[in-house]
Amino acid sequence: MQKIISLSKRRGFIFPSSEIYGGFASCYDYGPLGVELKNNIKKQWWIFMVQENENIVGLDASILMSPKVWQASGHLTAGFADLLVECKKCHSRFRADYMEEGKFIGEGKTKEKNQCPLCGGKEFTKARQFNLMMKTFVGPVEDDASVSYLRAETCQGIYVNYKNVKDSMRLNIPFGIAQIGKAFRNEITPGNFIFRMREFEQMEMQFFVSPNNKEKIFNSWKEKRINWYLSLGIKKENLRFREHKKNELAHYAKRAVDIEYKFPWGWGEIEGIHDRGDWDLSNHSKYSGEDFNYIDPFSKKKFIPNIIETSAGVDRAFLALLCDSYQEIKGGRTKTTKSAKEAEIFLKLDKKIAPIKAAVLPLVKNNLEIVKKAREVYQALKPYFMCQYDKISSIGRRYRRQDEIGTPICLTIDFESLMHNDLTIRDRDTMKQERVKVKNLISYLREKLNEQS
Ligand code: ATP
Repeated sequence: MQKIISLSKRRGFIFPSSEIYGGFASCYDYGPLGVELKNNIKKQWWIFMVQENENIVGLDASILMSPKVWQASGHLTAGFADLLVECKKCHSRFRADYMEEGKFIGEGKTKEKNQCPLCGGKEFTKARQFNLMMKTFVGPVEDDASVSYLRAETCQGIYVNYKNVKDSMRLNIPFGIAQIGKAFRNEITPGNFIFRMREFEQMEMQFFVSPNNKEKIFNSWKEKRINWYLSLGIKKENLRFREHKKNELAHYAKRAVDIEYKFPWGWGEIEGIHDRGDWDLSNHSKYSGEDFNYIDPFSKKKFIPNIIETSAGVDRAFLALLCDSYQEIKGGRTKTTKSAKEAEIFLKLDKKIAPIKAAVLPLVKNNLEIVKKAREVYQALKPYFMCQYDKISSIGRRYRRQDEIGTPICLTIDFESLMHNDLTIRDRDTMKQERVKVKNLISYLREKLNEQS
């Protein structure tokens, strides 16, 4: 993990939040390459979930909602609380489910330690409830009447808009509503870099179904969702399902299966697939007075729609992709770098999510003709692909810099380019080079990168 964290900062993927003030616990900022990678993950999710499914539509609900939403959803009661224990010596707090008979086992930690992981203290308080909702005040007066909450999950914005969406888009069950957005949880024990943060981003899809055939739908979403991670190049052996036992289920869930990734510290959830039954719509109906009954147009049967949810974390997918694609090649990938003391880093990111698609590199920076041509190529490609222009240091070094950030293609403009109006294309994975005419470059790259628009 230290290697991933250090690469993330060095190459502009992720920075600690408010770093000049000593950081701010468990909050992170996505840098110039991080935001590209993150946007690409979200774009791929949107294509897979919304664009490719005629019965799934999108939504972007506000983060702040009426506090009544959270009363109805059960988040303000014990439903959304973790059990917490406190170290009597340093007063650090930990989730009680990370303790086993007084031993701290933590997320991905071993069971041997019988002490606080921060100060070594051996005594803990009894477990008590701790609500994870982040409170805020809306309006100029900070009193009970102005209390609101930052949403703890994006899906509640979908449930309260169920009717608006269904009616405006003339949808019949089964149909889904998808949303990407920020969620906030006052996690007791954040950590493992961007795996557990207090502010994070979710990609959630709520599929409204009849209670009769939901088992089949649940299983088909389970398969589709793991296939999505595979389609982004994550290795099969690093992914698995984990079915929740009855006593682990969240307050709303009838069934839950996690998709887990094998992180450097162990298996961790990256997505949850939940059968939420009619919990959400029934409760919102009870609290708001709105009738959420649905009459099936064919059977005329009346029921409250059940919900199958796929809830993925953008940040956890990001981390899984970084871990999965990170490779170190001792002695370097090419003969010229064999003497290199340090191992070469290489991010084998899928082309669809690589932050930079192509790097434009003039072979030398002091030949005006070559530089001019390289600038022309860069200007021509910019509207179509996220490109980087780099003229600093030797060509070998520039290739390695691009390998380190996962750029699939490097384009080198050399002396021959001036005569033949072509350039060298270097493939990140095979390191093979071929020459392509500048006039064919856009269609060549389109095909090679398999661009979706
Ligand atoms: P955990 O058991 O790890 O706390 P959860 O079961 O509470 O996770 P869900 O409520 O199912 O998580 O949320 C759906 C997804 O949102 C998770 O699979 C994860 O990818 C993401 N997520 C949840 N909490 C966090 C967090 N604190 N930081 C980053 N991502 C998160």
